[in-house]
Amino acid sequence: MTETTITLVQGDITRESVDAIVNAANSSLLGGGGVDGAIHRRGGPAILAECRALRASRYGKGLPTGQAVATTAGELDARWVIHTVGPVFSASEDRSDLLASCYRESLKVADELGARTVAFPAISTGVYRWPMDDAARIAVETVRAARTSVTEVRFVLFGEQAYEVFAAQAG
Ligand code: ADP
Repeated sequence: MTETTITLVQGDITRESVDAIVNAANSSLLGGGGVDGAIHRRGGPAILAECRALRASRYGKGLPTGQAVATTAGELDARWVIHTVGPVFSASEDRSDLLASCYRESLKVADELGARTVAFPAISTGVYRWPMDDAARIAVETVRAARTSVTEVRFVLFGEQAYEVFAAQAG
């Protein structure tokens, strides 16, 4: 296990140059809006083709929430895309463990692949409505607690507000 450095970047995750880019996918693995759509658009059809194959072979019922699986990164400047399914935020049920699981399981997949630098978006904070400050706390705490050989976790935040919230947590 090595020391994992957390870095923060404001921008578009599809422009990052890292070993693995994490996708806030949906359970269908067939693409969607937000960061998922952006990754498939810029990464090209090879990613979707592998996602379809994964559905056919292992995830006929979809990738469960909190789990992660890797594909090629297509034309992105990365070797792999790690797809993970965040929980939809609920005010009545605490789903924090599932959100933490996305980070843990993605890092586990990264370790299996031998990825050393991994970029994460703020999982579940878009269409899935998780409040940014709570999502940032869970993300940073989970990465800090992880036993992993990943040397850099880069949180790529879309917009200044998300960046500031993560900066306050990672401070
Ligand atoms: P989820 O369904 O997990 O909520 P979304 O893609 O809707 O996923 O949103 C997750 C986060 O990713 C949001 O904070 C959103 O602003 C951000 N996001 C959207 N596009 C990009 C992108 N190209 N790069 C980085 N972050 C992005």
